[in-house]
Amino acid sequence: MKYLKTCALRSGSSGNSILVSSAHSTLLFDAGITGKGLAHALEKLCLNPDRLKGILITHEHWDHTSGLGVLLRRYKVPLYINKDTLRALSPSIGKFDPNLINIFHSWEEFQIDDFAIKPFPVSHDAEDPVGFTVSNGLGSVGICTDLGYADETVYQALRGVDICYLEANYDPELLKVGSYPLYLKERIAGHKGHLSNDECARACLRLLEQGTERIILSHLSNENNFPHLALLTVNDALVEAGANEGIDYKLLTARRYDLSETQELKA
Ligand SMILES: [Zn+2]
Ligand SMILES: [Zn+2]
Repeated sequence: MKYLKTCALRSGSSGNSILVSSAHSTLLFDAGITGKGLAHALEKLCLNPDRLKGILITHEHWDHTSGLGVLLRRYKVPLYINKDTLRALSPSIGKFDPNLINIFHSWEEFQIDDFAIKPFPVSHDAEDPVGFTVSNGLGSVGICTDLGYADETVYQALRGVDICYLEANYDPELLKVGSYPLYLKERIAGHKGHLSNDECARACLRLLEQGTERIILSHLSNENNFPHLALLTVNDALVEAGANEGIDYKLLTARRYDLSETQELKA
């Protein structure tokens, strides 16, 4: 049977990893998870580690790569990464088989087994940060977190994806009154920082117009957001624009320390 499943294993500043799998293969987007955590997650999802066909990296920040070295050594899975991100990571990643490295370029689609993957650039304070779309002919998933703002590039890349992980990092009021130092507040809210709930809501509206029906609010801040607040802000904006929850769209939040609800598309 043909299917496409996706599950966020971790989401937020303490770690990010998203699985996408088909009947043939499984891909891991970002490696902000321990070897033990990944093994446990695969077991829970009844996925054999042998089916892991690639680890794809969005950018070098620790919350996306803390487990990368261990995972590469343990599972010997091919790594897909761009040149500048690899260079930034090299000092901290440890030794691994260089034959595992595959370099990608933004907008250039490549294939891993039955998956077509397209990386696209996003605005974030890393060397060459990207988001991804991944499809297997049955459906498609967009992965788009860690971005200061959503521009036309982002909308062009995510046009028509069935399921989208989109960042809803912070509530502007909570960030303003919170305990973070000013420089950090400015970094988060800046053009190379993170997407707020309100910015996310505007982006969700656009995604809905472009045909996306399931959106998973992701990379929520522990300090400056709450899952119910992110959901409420985005939902209110979508309902106000005339969309009907459950009919036009489904909205969820990704969990910080545990597996999120698996999303599935079937033939
Ligand atoms: Zn991050
Ligand atoms: Zn980041």
